[in-house]
Amino acid sequence: MARRRLVYEGKAKILYEGPEPGTLIQHFKDDTTAGNGEKFDVIEGKGVLNNRISEHIMQGLNSIGVPTHFIRRLNMREQLVRSVEMLPVEIVVRNVAAGSLSRRLGIEEGTQLPRPIIEFYLKNDELHDPMITEEHMIAFNWATQQDIDDMISLALRVNDFLSGLMLGVGIRLIDFKMETGRIWDGDFSRLVVADEISPDSCRLWDAKTGRKLDKDVFRRDLGSLSDAYSEVARRLGIMPRPGEETGRRQGPKLVH
Ligand code: ADP
Ligand code: UDP
Repeated sequence: MARRRLVYEGKAKILYEGPEPGTLIQHFKDDTTAGNGEKFDVIEGKGVLNNRISEHIMQGLNSIGVPTHFIRRLNMREQLVRSVEMLPVEIVVRNVAAGSLSRRLGIEEGTQLPRPIIEFYLKNDELHDPMITEEHMIAFNWATQQDIDDMISLALRVNDFLSGLMLGVGIRLIDFKMETGRIWDGDFSRLVVADEISPDSCRLWDAKTGRKLDKDVFRRDLGSLSDAYSEVARRLGIMPRPGEETGRRQGPKLVH
């Protein structure tokens, strides 16, 4: 088989040229970083879990009409996506205070916010992804006013979908990061949700116990990251529990 052309290698993923024009293969690595690469480890199986979890979320979004780059999963670690023009902006949506919001503003972690708060960060590792405002995005041509309106609307729809999806399996969506990219159709363009949505880019707390089921387990040395991500995958029904039948769905069982 001919070698695939590498398009980009980042901290957590590799992009290869896809089989058709306008497509890319997104490969999920086991590499795990925090603090802009200051903390690093290779956590076996993390890429497989994120590939499956991101697939599940992106498919769900597609199915309710929220456009994403996701086309289909190719194998355990790879998915086929549409190649998009990424906006150099990370969008963070917060429902509950945690992380940098708590650190910067002194709001205690776990405080329910009165409404979802959206923040924008510049994607720039050298500058440590600084927070930016709408004015910065427009002044420096990182996004137009229309793009900003579209990013906010997409972010709120993703937040509603993801909060519901997670709450349905006993998980609180505290916050998450997403990225968007532009797809051209002749002279017209629209933004779609791109990159990944996985426990690497969300804060997920067990609704009953508050147990962390996201990358904070790695950032704060709270135990096994793959156990936490596997728990999310199991609850979402995309990975069997130990001892559960795999393959065909189990039929109904009588309860005595
Ligand atoms: P980083 O670049 O921060 O190290 P990753 O290792 O996750 O992060 O790299 C994946 C890169 O691929 C990111 O820079 C992301 O913006 C980019 N990307 C994600 N989805 C697409 C897409 N559909 N088309 C083009 N680029 C994408
Ligand atoms: N996040 C991310 N990538 C980043 C920065 C943040 O995926 O480069 C996610 C992070 O996992 C969390 C949310 O965005 O779900 C908000 O992160 P925060 O600003 O609190 O940053 P942190 O505490 O990680 O420094």
